[in-house]
Amino acid sequence: MTDDLCSRDAYMTDCEATVTGATDGGVVLDRTVFYARGGGQPGDTGMLSWDGGECRVIDTVKSRESGEVVHVLAPEDPQPPVGAAVTAEIDWDRRYTHMRTHTALHSLSGIVFGDYGAKVTGGNMESGGVARMDFELDTISQEFGREVEEKLNAALARDVPVHVTFLPRAEALADPDLIRTKVSLIPDSVDPIRVIDIEGIDKQADGGTHVRQTVEVGRVRVVKTESKGKGFKRMRIELESP
Ligand SMILES: [Zn+2]
Repeated sequence: MTDDLCSRDAYMTDCEATVTGATDGGVVLDRTVFYARGGGQPGDTGMLSWDGGECRVIDTVKSRESGEVVHVLAPEDPQPPVGAAVTAEIDWDRRYTHMRTHTALHSLSGIVFGDYGAKVTGGNMESGGVARMDFELDTISQEFGREVEEKLNAALARDVPVHVTFLPRAEALADPDLIRTKVSLIPDSVDPIRVIDIEGIDKQADGGTHVRQTVEVGRVRVVKTESKGKGFKRMRIELESP
């Protein structure tokens, strides 16, 4: 399997790698800095270059059959042959915005649970610092959105560290913070479990990429609050400086 470098260091922008396979309009590498779409976070885009050629990576996905990380290549570009040594480089500005957005979403979920006792039921991120999150709330209003926005920005401005740890599965299952986020639903084969801990704000098992310190997120606006049904309320957020 591909060595997934961004799961340990989200700030790596490029790496040297070898092409180990070709599949579904893309290539598999022995190691990569590209994040494969999942957990609400878009897949990375960027470039692969090798001796004599280069091509654009237009998306990164996990193959449904093999679980491998597939770098989806622009169909009109040349493809590196299997065995080629390549330099893999992500579109860093786009990814960094995803890291900030993702950290904002965790913080939002921690605040809405901590202060209002409501669990998250869904969420999704777009490019450009835009995202939504769904909560098991009975009611929602614009005033509520503003209140949460204020609390969220105050928490982010405290500039707390964001820790990435790999916990033995048994330990993760016994952690009360992780029980809340349904860590028991993670397949049995996943051990250790990767945990993102935004000190004092939110802690959850997660595969995405995040910033190191909450101040990097900047200010966040709650741009919309809406009811999608009973116990199903949605908040849309935007980073102030995408
Ligand atoms: Zn995350």
